[in-house]
Amino acid sequence: MHQDFEIIHFTKIVPKEAIFKFYEPVRVEGYCKSCPNYNKLWSCPPHDFSAVSYLDSYDYVLLIGEKIIRNEESLSNTSMNTYFQKVRRQLGDQLIELSKSHDVEVLIAGNCYLCEDCLRTDDKSCRYEDRMKYSLESIGFLVGDIASELLGIELEWPEPGKEAPSLMTVGAIFAKEDIKLKAMLDQWR
Ligand code: SF4
Repeated sequence: MHQDFEIIHFTKIVPKEAIFKFYEPVRVEGYCKSCPNYNKLWSCPPHDFSAVSYLDSYDYVLLIGEKIIRNEESLSNTSMNTYFQKVRRQLGDQLIELSKSHDVEVLIAGNCYLCEDCLRTDDKSCRYEDRMKYSLESIGFLVGDIASELLGIELEWPEPGKEAPSLMTVGAIFAKEDIKLKAMLDQWR
């Protein structure tokens, strides 16, 4: 039996400054405003802090990209978006776990998925402040440009009326020293 999709991993450790070339908070928040999650989830903008202050303690970043490709021989009707949600949550769970036991900060791919109903809509504090994580795009980075320019992921656009042949998800781990990030690389090879 064939697996329904495959994942190609891309990783790169860069100085933090490398991703700040793709930091355009006003432009990115403009995109976020058309998303139904805007101002509805604590993981999503608007935020009362900047990425500059949030990442101030760290000097290096390990970028992790995962390209999800449908297996042409699969007979499954499952949508690419279903595969995407599965893969991004797996990556998010890995990153959240890592952040508990290492002196690192992590950014997951996409919005927080820990609760069915985010408490932001009730103007209450986040239920799991110790586990909730932001994403690159949520704090103002152009994630598509980071994926293509730094990770070398080629984005494939769908033909009209069809699903994209592949999707990608990108997370990040920030640390003070690159040696700490190098020790984590094996998990994504
Ligand atoms: S953990 Fe729950 S309350 Fe906190 S941001 Fe995520 S969905 Fe919202």
